[in-house]
Amino acid sequence: AARGAGPNTWRAYDPRLRADLARSAARRSGLDRALAEGSFELYYQPIVWLDDGDIGGFEALVRWPQPDGTIIPPDEFIPLAEATGQILPLGRWILRTATDQAARWNVTRLAQGVAPVKISVNVSAHQLRDPGFPDEVGKALTDAGLDPAFLMVEATESSLIDRAGTALANLRTLTRSGVGVSLDDFGTGYSSLSYLRDLPVNTLKIDKAFVDGVPDEPRQTALVKGIIGIAKSLTLMVVAEGVETSQQRRALARMGADLGQGYLYARPMRVDEATKLMCAGHVKLPRGMAGPEDDG
Ligand code: C2E
Ligand code: MG
Ligand code: MG
Ligand code: MG
Repeated sequence: AARGAGPNTWRAYDPRLRADLARSAARRSGLDRALAEGSFELYYQPIVWLDDGDIGGFEALVRWPQPDGTIIPPDEFIPLAEATGQILPLGRWILRTATDQAARWNVTRLAQGVAPVKISVNVSAHQLRDPGFPDEVGKALTDAGLDPAFLMVEATESSLIDRAGTALANLRTLTRSGVGVSLDDFGTGYSSLSYLRDLPVNTLKIDKAFVDGVPDEPRQTALVKGIIGIAKSLTLMVVAEGVETSQQRRALARMGADLGQGYLYARPMRVDEATKLMCAGHVKLPRGMAGPEDDG
């Protein structure tokens, strides 16, 4: 019987765990099918200059739409795809779709006589450790016709730690080729500041967990101010994640952060909507919510 079989075996009979296992097995084969059928979708969230609301770029965020109209968020399938290695073909599709889209957008920008937008693409540990990764990025850029300067690769601190050092070597190759590298979710990992000094990154994304406390929590705000100061002294660009209020925008801009991303500006949106927003050039906020005019 389940109970008598030893201290650790009862869990195998836990109906909840069994349901979880069944669900992840279904997800795994579902991922294969979705890859084959091309049913993933990229959403885009604008990354905005904090001072004037101009759009600097977009972050591509993957979604898995379901036949019933619901959408599975990335947190619910990226870790699985990462564990099974399915992230490699999925990541390749994401990279190709995002660079292709950015190249299209920049044709429009060029015609409008405005600065090109950058596209930020999240890459997972598995992709970064693949020795073929820089070549794959290079091919995606060539095929899309996108200048490397307009691609940002977003990597988390933890994804950079591998024994062989391939991830770091890959990022160095990418930065040398002109591709930008962002350190994502900064502050949530364990890397020391001296580590930051040696990393081949040019942008730091301050995690939402830190931005949440700005400007109301003095200690958290002081920490963010310090992070921005260090980033600036290392000549890194600073992007604040999860900017939800105009108070946050103002405080972050005053502390020297360059760009912001968050619900204050826009949620991640489908490509058509992002295109419209991009053509408008900047993100319009309700009167008095943005722009230098309400800084005083
Ligand atoms: P991330 O790279 O840190 O992306 C930012 C996440 O914060 C996104 O969630 C975005 O929708 C959310 N966000 C942005 N502004 C706000 C805000 O003001 N308030 C709140 N509450 N949330 C905000 P999303 O799209 O669910 O993605 C979650 C994570 O999944 C990403 O975190 C990233 O780690 C991963 N991910 C998403 N797309 C991809 C992808 O294409 N490839 C890989 N490898 N990972 C991805
Ligand atoms: Mg990201
Ligand atoms: Mg992030
Ligand atoms: Mg995050």
